[in-house]
Amino acid sequence: MIVSEIFYSIQGEGLLAGIPTVFVRLAGCPLRCRWCDTKYAWDEKAGARYTVAKIVRTVKQWPCKFVVITGAEPMINPDLPQLVKRLKASDKHITIETAGIAFIPALPCDLMSISPKLSNSTPADPALAAIHEKSRLDIAVLAKLIDNYEYQLKFVVDSEGDLAEIKQTLKEIGNVDLEKVMLMPQAGTKDELLAKPPMVAQMCKRTGFAFSPRLQILLWNNERGT
Ligand code: SF4
Repeated sequence: MIVSEIFYSIQGEGLLAGIPTVFVRLAGCPLRCRWCDTKYAWDEKAGARYTVAKIVRTVKQWPCKFVVITGAEPMINPDLPQLVKRLKASDKHITIETAGIAFIPALPCDLMSISPKLSNSTPADPALAAIHEKSRLDIAVLAKLIDNYEYQLKFVVDSEGDLAEIKQTLKEIGNVDLEKVMLMPQAGTKDELLAKPPMVAQMCKRTGFAFSPRLQILLWNNERGT
């Protein structure tokens, strides 16, 4: 597998925010989100070649139960099932971070952390926008993921106007447990993050959706490997 990076940090987002966690970032993502903070991992060759055994050995150097497999987009990697199985056999708690654009059945993961991409993610460049729009939202895949896995749904909020699109997306997916829906502010830097949460918090109070922090930005200003 092509691995962009493996590092030990604190989970910054979602239900498990605050828990020390090892992150395995796999290379390759077909989307081109405008505000993506891991552009360096977009290319499927953007990293070093690891065997599954080497990834597991690297993860195990830290005495840490929690592992996040992230990207780029890990659900498009054909070797993902083997990696998840091997990590599970080492008694790890496994979260998969995904945009929800591909389905793989029967992964022994503990949490499918799905972040469907709204239109606020579309890049300005028309060529990139065309690639992005082709696959950013697949309602059938999202429905399958939530029907088959323990999940959380995290939406990146850029402005008040995003709420109507979030509600429409949830309606189209259907069968969503609204207690598993989280809103988090779009921010690439600590300054942006400090400016936006009041708007997102008010949105959460109005809707009952949970607020997700982004501790990796607050603590380390989104530096690579944090
Ligand atoms: S899906 Fe994730 S990794 Fe891919 S472009 Fe969007 S934010 Fe970046």
